[in-house]
Order: sequence, then structure tokens, then C-alpha cells
Amino acid sequence: METIAKPGVDPKELLRNLPRSGETVLMYVDGSWCEASDGATRTLVDPATGAPIARVAEGTREDAKRAIAAARKAFDAGPWSEMRAADRAALLFKVADKIEAHAQEFQYIDTLNNGKPLRETMYDVADAAGCFRYYAGLATKPHGQTFDVPAPSQTFTVREPIGVCGQIVPWNYPLLMAVWKLAPALAAGNTVILKPSELTPLSALRLASIFEELEFPRGVVNVVCGAGPIVGAELAENEQVDKIAFTGGTVTGRSIMRAAVGNLKKVTLELGGKSPNIVFADADFETAVDYALFGIYANSGQVCSAGSRLVLQESIADRFVERLAERAKKIRVGNGFDPKTEMGPIISRAHLERVEGYLEAGKAEGAQVLCGGARLEGPLAGGNFVAPTIFDRTAPSMKIVREEIFGPVLVVQRFDDEADALRIANDTIYGLAGAVFTQDVAKAHRVIRKLRAGITWINTYHPTYNEAPWGGYKQSGMGRELGTYGYDAYTEVKQINVNLDVAPSGWFEG
Ligand code: NAD
Repeated sequence: METIAKPGVDPKELLRNLPRSGETVLMYVDGSWCEASDGATRTLVDPATGAPIARVAEGTREDAKRAIAAARKAFDAGPWSEMRAADRAALLFKVADKIEAHAQEFQYIDTLNNGKPLRETMYDVADAAGCFRYYAGLATKPHGQTFDVPAPSQTFTVREPIGVCGQIVPWNYPLLMAVWKLAPALAAGNTVILKPSELTPLSALRLASIFEELEFPRGVVNVVCGAGPIVGAELAENEQVDKIAFTGGTVTGRSIMRAAVGNLKKVTLELGGKSPNIVFADADFETAVDYALFGIYANSGQVCSAGSRLVLQESIADRFVERLAERAKKIRVGNGFDPKTEMGPIISRAHLERVEGYLEAGKAEGAQVLCGGARLEGPLAGGNFVAPTIFDRTAPSMKIVREEIFGPVLVVQRFDDEADALRIANDTIYGLAGAVFTQDVAKAHRVIRKLRAGITWINTYHPTYNEAPWGGYKQSGMGRELGTYGYDAYTEVKQINVNLDVAPSGWFEG
């Protein structure tokens, strides 16, 4: 395996546009930049080298409360929620333009902070701009309905913003996950408090500086950094928050839901997965190998929808895994700033150790390691690198088969026939994504319809579009992001009933 240890860029120079006080990068609350209420900070670390890259304000419950109060005031007092959608859209189109104008800066910030290769962050930034454009466009389209009711009534619906939205996002797509939440919420007229992952807040803060430049009304967008159980928990619990939107792990998702019951705030959850990628013997062999590789090793497997279980027909399995391992061993792993790098590091030391725990569990439970199986040492030892790994000869009860690893670790599950493939594919608490590879069109459709998952692909893996809904069945989540579904999730539906014959009802005679 070729490894690339080239160091990245100068963080100081790259982060020059982030407002600071001394050395501390600030948060954005109520239209101004601030330190944490207790002055606490967190040092961010480059996952590729272990070197410190920035010190960021570490928000408190007080900071979260202040941001919630600002968002509440901005929502209740207007004008944001009452503006014409076209006027909000005009601003959101400008956000997209600004992201594009600073595309390389955003790209580099996420590569620095998350470690993912430049070839990935380039797409993330383009998708982020596209997402703002999509929702800016959607804001001005018709959203209500009219109904066939008896005269003299006329009944129709309008969609109105929900109010103050708390938004909690993970570290695996720092900019894009923030934008998937901000764009529809703002397009619909809500005000927001975004909490980026404590590990990767930098691109969200840079985005906040764009909202400031564009003179979004004060309090409409707030970005509060900090720990999940503190800032995140406050957003989930606080009764001034009308909706909480969360992307992250399933265990955290459960705690968000519990915390949200106080005022029965609206909840949407985008959670984990253990998605099956089913390959039949009649699939185009090289295409299926290629997407199996892409499905699991893109973003070092740190993708909620990763094809982490390769459900493979027995008759081609030996030949398939041999070819797959041959290609996995050739993946260029290293520093994301080298344009040749194909796979970057794991996000943190703690997560690296978690992934290593799964590698050990797989070996201890008797699975066969076809390639990888360990962290990378040598010139990459300072970073959090794991070799692309394949486990074959697995059993359904193994920990590596049942649990989300969120790393570059593929487990192979072999099957004999279609019914067997579906039984294995659906044998999981998750239901986020899944794919099927076959050249038999009827079989492809049969299988995909029986897959209990929200995002599915036939003869491809991973394409994701701002226009199409994203979300999971079973314990992979609640609700959908993206597309019109993602917009609707930030609105309440109001029925308006008009009496066109203004006269007493006559129901009571006295
Ligand atoms: P995580 O659940 O640990 O953290 C996600 C976010 O929640 C972070 O901002 C964190 O600070 C915050 N948080 C943590 N504890 C909290 C609490 N008690 N209350 C409120 N907020 C809290 O997840 P992670 O490790 O950052 O991300 C990886 C997980 O995210 C994986 O399980 C992955 O599958 C999932 N994910 C899902 C999607 C999707 O669209 N379904 C997309 C990306 C990631």
C-alpha cells in the first residue's frame, strides 16, 4: 500500500477569516462573535498529523441559552419569518455564491479539520452551494393545497415555519451536514442555533461569517460550539426551542428524543447504519467490485450510509473478494492535502481506538482478515490511520456484523439465493441505505422493494442528491432531509377554512 505523509497547509493562514480574540476562534451568537461565557476553549487537532490546528471557544449551557433567546427574539419579532419567501431566497442564493467564491478555502478548512482528502471536500463544497440554491428555489414554489369541501366553505393549507430550530451535526461532513440543516430551515423562515461537532466546527464558523457579511438579521443564525452533552443537550431540552434536528449516532439520537419530550418539540433524526450491499453472481463484475470499494472506503468508511456489509453470492464470492482485496491494498492512504491521497485518517484518536477494538473483536470471533486489520504506523503513526480492511467468513452474530464501526472495515456475508440475500440484508436494527448489483432488472426491483431501508441504489453506491429525500427506516432515524421532504420537515401545516356565506349557523335554536 502506498502511504502519503505529506504535511498540509499553514492553519493560521488558512483560518485567517475566522474572527478571533487573541488566539481563540470565536462563536457566533445574536449577530456577534463571542468567547464562551466561562472563557473555556478546546484545541482542535489535525487527524492526519496529531498537530494542533486551532483553539476554539467551547460553549456552555449559558451560551446555548443566550443563542436560543436570540433566535426566539428574531423569530417572534420578525422580519425573517414574515418576509416574502422570495426575499429570503435572494439572500440564500447569495450564500451559495459566497460559498462558491471561497470554495477552495472551505475545501481546505474541512480537509484540515476532518482529514478527508481534497478530492472529497471539493464535492462537499459544491454540494453545499447546490443545497442553498435548491432550497432558495424551493422556498418560492407553491406549498399549499386546496380541498374539495362543501359550499359555502373554502379550505386550503399554507406551510409556516416551525419557529426556533436547534440543529446538531456530526464531524464526518462538517460543512455539508450543517448546510443540509441550515438551508431548508432558513428557506422556510425559521431561526436556528447550529451546534457543529466539537471536533470540526471550523467550516460552520466560516459559514457564519458569510451570514454576517450578507447582513442576515441578528439572531436568525447562531453557531454555538461545544460538547454534545452540554450545548447539544441544552438545545434538545430547552422549551424555547420548537424543533430539534439531529444527525449523529443512534445512541445519542435516543437521548435527544428523550430530552425533547418536555415541550414535545418536533424531532428529526438522521442516525447510524449497517447497510447491505448485495451483489448477485450476474452483476457486472468489475462495476460491482468498484462500487463495493467506493461504498465502504469513501471518507474512510465514516459515512452513515456506507456499504459496510457486502452481501455476496457464494458462486462468485471467492473470485470477488480476491479482486476486492487486491484493489483495497492499492488504495493510497495518507494526508488529505496530497492530491494523490484517496483515503484519509479516522477523525480522532478516540475513534481510532474504537475502530481498533472492532478489528480485535473480529479477529477474536474468528472472522478471516483478507487485508488490513490494523492501524498504520511508520510515517503515518502521528495521525489516526487504519488500513482498508476486509473480514470474510463472518457469522451473523459477530459484533463486526451487527454494530456500526464507522471506519474502513468491510464485512462479507455470503448467500446462496435471493431469499437468503434479503434475509441477511434485513437482519439489522438499522435501515438507512442499501444497494443491489445485478443485470436482471426484474430481480433488482424485486430485491430493492423488499429492502427495509430509506436510501437505495441499483448498480451504484452512494450517489446523493440535494433534490432527493435522505433518511432511514427502523433505528436509522425519523423523518427525512433533502428534497421537498426536507423543506416540509421545517414547516407546520395550517388549515385555513373560509365561510363564503357569512350568516349564523342556526345550530342552537334559543
Ligand atoms: P455523535 O452522536 O457522537 O455526535 C453527533 C453530534 O451530537 C455532535 O455534534 C455531538 O457533539 C452531539 N452530541 C453528542 N452527545 C449529545 C447529547 N447527549 N445531546 C445532544 N447532542 C449530543 O455522532 P458522531 O460520532 O459525531 O457521528 C457519527 C455518527 O453519525 C454515526 O453513527 C453516523 O452513522 C451518524 N451519521 C448519520 C448521518 C445520516 O444522515 N443518517 C449522517 C452522518 C453521520
